[in-house]
Amino acid sequence: MGKASRDKRDIYYRKAKEEGWRARSAFKLLQIDEEFNIFEGVKRVVDLCAAPGSWSQVLSRKLYLPAKQSPALKDGELPLIVAIDLQPMAPIEGVIQVQGDITNARTAEVVIRHFDGCKADLVVCDGAPDVTGLHDMDEFVQSQLILAGLTIVTHILRQGGKFIAKIFRGKDTSLLYCQLKLFFPVVTFAKPKSSRNSSIEAFAVCENYSPPEGFNPKDLHRLLEMVGSPSGVDDLDCSSGWLEGPNKVYIPFLACGDLSGYDSDRSYPLPKVADGTYQSLDPVQPPIAPPYKRALEMKKASSQGIRDLEKLSLDS
Ligand code: SAM
Repeated sequence: MGKASRDKRDIYYRKAKEEGWRARSAFKLLQIDEEFNIFEGVKRVVDLCAAPGSWSQVLSRKLYLPAKQSPALKDGELPLIVAIDLQPMAPIEGVIQVQGDITNARTAEVVIRHFDGCKADLVVCDGAPDVTGLHDMDEFVQSQLILAGLTIVTHILRQGGKFIAKIFRGKDTSLLYCQLKLFFPVVTFAKPKSSRNSSIEAFAVCENYSPPEGFNPKDLHRLLEMVGSPSGVDDLDCSSGWLEGPNKVYIPFLACGDLSGYDSDRSYPLPKVADGTYQSLDPVQPPIAPPYKRALEMKKASSQGIRDLEKLSLDS
């Protein structure tokens, strides 16, 4: 699809370029904030799975840049934003980057070290695996990222802090809800207006971090496995949506963002310019080392090879 037709078909893609965001995902975090006020009082934040960096840009613009302009704040008092991803990303003002796998304990340790004994007020995780199209598999890999996020949360989130995580809605959604409820008394599954209805993506907005009394982060996995089991830590049966009666789990699900605003599933006409032609903008910051880079190089090399062969046969 060409850039201009994507601009027409995807209003948030176009708006992202106009407003200088590296990805349309920025609007999802902004719309979650409109509803839940997640940035209030936040001084330290971790952005998990951050590349190409539009959420980190939001954090920088909402937290770091205003603080930097405030004459009352000294260097050491500026908000701390740590962003992690498997992929490297171009620098963003006020954002410390860590390249690594969030499911790896060593990456978690690096993040924790940046906090130097202090706790974070907010952890956000927009992690997504390379989607295979096999729904169960994708949901499983996604849940591994949430688990990795929750592991980091249990080490560095302060009591009362917030955790926002991308989820894929599926058959285990109620189980995930119950697991998150172990740590957060308020959990809402939110669907920002900029997230397409056709996508199974939603965001768990978890508020007021309150781990169970005597909780040891080492026990996280065992504790999560017990949720919903007959002798488990939670009497609610969280296994599926088919339950009836008082034990049925109702998940608060909320659409957020200006509901009369742009619809991400609609095509919008392209704006007219003076000479009648529409000029599509380039992406704000293309990924600097995308996983598909090697494939592109190989494709380019092979088309060049074919052209050389064709030229050879024409010349001979
Ligand atoms: N929030 C980002 C933004 O606004 O630009 C977009 C995130 S993108 C949807 C998902 C990211 O998850 C990818 O950059 C991918 O590299 C990252 N990711 C997937 N698995 C990961 C892992 N195990 N550790 C770290 N990052 C991971």
